[in-house]
Amino acid sequence: TSNVTTIRDNAPLLPKVKNIIAVASGKGGVGKSTCSSNLAVALAATGAKVGLIDADISGPSVPTMFNVEGEQPAVKQENGKNIIIPIEQYGVKLMSIGFLTPADSAVVWRGPMASSALKQFIADVEWGELDYLLIDLPPGTSDIHLTMVQTVPVTGAVIITTPQKVALADATKGLSMFKQPQINVPVLGVVENMAYFTPEELPENKYYLFGKEGGQRLAKKFEVPFLGEIPIVQSIRESGDSGFPAVLKEGVTQKAFTELAETVAR
Ligand code: ADP
Repeated sequence: TSNVTTIRDNAPLLPKVKNIIAVASGKGGVGKSTCSSNLAVALAATGAKVGLIDADISGPSVPTMFNVEGEQPAVKQENGKNIIIPIEQYGVKLMSIGFLTPADSAVVWRGPMASSALKQFIADVEWGELDYLLIDLPPGTSDIHLTMVQTVPVTGAVIITTPQKVALADATKGLSMFKQPQINVPVLGVVENMAYFTPEELPENKYYLFGKEGGQRLAKKFEVPFLGEIPIVQSIRESGDSGFPAVLKEGVTQKAFTELAETVAR
């Protein structure tokens, strides 16, 4: 454990980045990448300088969600080292393994290789000055999480969960991990995604498809802030698939993600 502290103290990577925020979930498919993308764009819309690292090495979705699939970042030489210029879209600087591997190819990497990819995304990318660098982590608890905390001083972690029992059980593990002494990353709070569904023709009704207020209970149990709820909205899914984050379109979704960004910025 002393090892972790040593690496952290001796390697102040990214000195021009004010806040490094990890976005994590226990389970896959709960909307972690959707929330990371929309949060990044919402923060950028406030005038902040924002970067997003897609650390989901085996299932990168950032290129699709930002409509930059197939783009290849430029590389420049600096002191004999290759420096990658991040792809910029909707005011957010992006880095993903999806930019470096052919589309549709399966990335089957062993832990150490995935970890070195993340290290490269942190150390060898020209992030410049940023107010926020978001790290969209893979689901669960993995080598990548350890690599992250050993490589950079993480300001805090945002936990994404749905209100469903299985998602909450996994989110609990994720939350405990951040609280472990050798990780010791402050948890900024819990976001409950897919909190409820409201049909257009019944705007007053809320249907709790995955259960009610599970995210709030989780936050309470761990004594961390509850950051808000995001409803299930068809346009959130559609905009993810079409590469135009939902937060860019006026409406309830824009409001929800903008409020989330304001809460995180506080
Ligand atoms: P994860 O990163 O946790 O694996 P994703 O962000 O890829 O999850 O989301 C999984 C799927 O659910 C995607 O198709 C996404 O568009 C959809 N989705 C996520 N959040 C919502 C939401 N609030 N409403 C509707 N669809 C959503």
